Amino acid sequence: DKIKLGLVFGGQSGEHEVARVSAYNVLKVIDLDKYDVVTIGITKDGRWMIYTGDWDKLPDGSWEQDTDHLRTDFSVFTDPLIQSIDLFWPMMHGPMGEDGTIQGVFEMMNKPYVGCGVLASAVGMDKVVSKILFERAGIPVVPYIYFYDRDWRKNQDGLVKDSEAQLGYPVFIKPVNMGSSVGITKAHDRVEFLAGVDNALQYDSKILIEKAVNAREVECAVLEEDGEIQTTLPGEVVASKEFYDYEAKYADDQDSKIVIPAEIDSATIAKIRAYAHDAFAAIDGAGPTRADFFVDRDTGELYINEVNTMPGFTDISMYPMMWGNMGVGYSELVERLIQTAKRKKVTDY
Ligand code: ADP
Ligand code: MG
Ligand code: MG
Repeated sequence: DKIKLGLVFGGQSGEHEVARVSAYNVLKVIDLDKYDVVTIGITKDGRWMIYTGDWDKLPDGSWEQDTDHLRTDFSVFTDPLIQSIDLFWPMMHGPMGEDGTIQGVFEMMNKPYVGCGVLASAVGMDKVVSKILFERAGIPVVPYIYFYDRDWRKNQDGLVKDSEAQLGYPVFIKPVNMGSSVGITKAHDRVEFLAGVDNALQYDSKILIEKAVNAREVECAVLEEDGEIQTTLPGEVVASKEFYDYEAKYADDQDSKIVIPAEIDSATIAKIRAYAHDAFAAIDGAGPTRADFFVDRDTGELYINEVNTMPGFTDISMYPMMWGNMGVGYSELVERLIQTAKRKKVTDY
């Protein structure tokens, strides 16, 4: 009997487009003798559609116009096709995909799924809660402060002074629950700081301010299989701009470059792998996660920046490429992620 896999792609975040390409790449390598795939797209405005058309229409988004092959009038809790699915893969990045929300839907459906559970996903998405757990696990984080919208309205001057006293300039200003560098700016002075907070508040009511590090950006892929946590040799992203912003990540940018394995000393590599492992354990992760680090060019200090619990998964994304460097090819990785998810019960997450 074939295993019925529900691949949910797209989603409402700024990473909708990347997620479509990730899903398409996965579909291309899936063993169709073994799996029946049900593709379920979520549009940017949040509509769920069962898509039975050609998968080649995923990367450019034209699947949404393929009305002969779309079904929209269903409930995931009652639709017989959806109910017959054995396990899901939420191929979505950022809010409403990587943050525990859709994971909660799968749990209510009593279906296993690829990746982190509700809490790990939510914690991974929250750059402050995850930092607090990392600190408790003894993993160094960049100095930071955070505050809420309401604090900012009541005590703007006090918060600016706190930040300046504790972090100085430059700082990075981030909406706490986001990804793909959306809403993130670097502030070199008070004017930029005020503008940066106003900008970040458009995306979230919780704001993180971090000391800017003159950083090399080094990432490590983590994979949990049947409770065993495995890590890869790290890779490095060399950004073409002042920071690795949305443009540098996704625009056709020839100057950003990926180096796998990262050319760093073996002691630092060992630390990165140990911290990646501990960070994953700290959030109680499952499945694939990418742990991102900064290596300070001036001091050599290593800091964890964040974890991404459903990392970019195109065949040229960091996460699969780092596994490729370890000898685990893209299709083997896909197969292993599906199989380990299939062995889970929803109570295991
Ligand atoms: P996202 O979840 O959107 O990827 P990140 O926290 O990774 O958010 O920030 C995006 C990018 O901004 C990083 O990849 C890095 O280039 C830059 N950046 C973020 N924080 C800092 C920092 N404290 N020091 C230096 N660069 C930073
Ligand atoms: Mg992120
Ligand atoms: Mg990042």
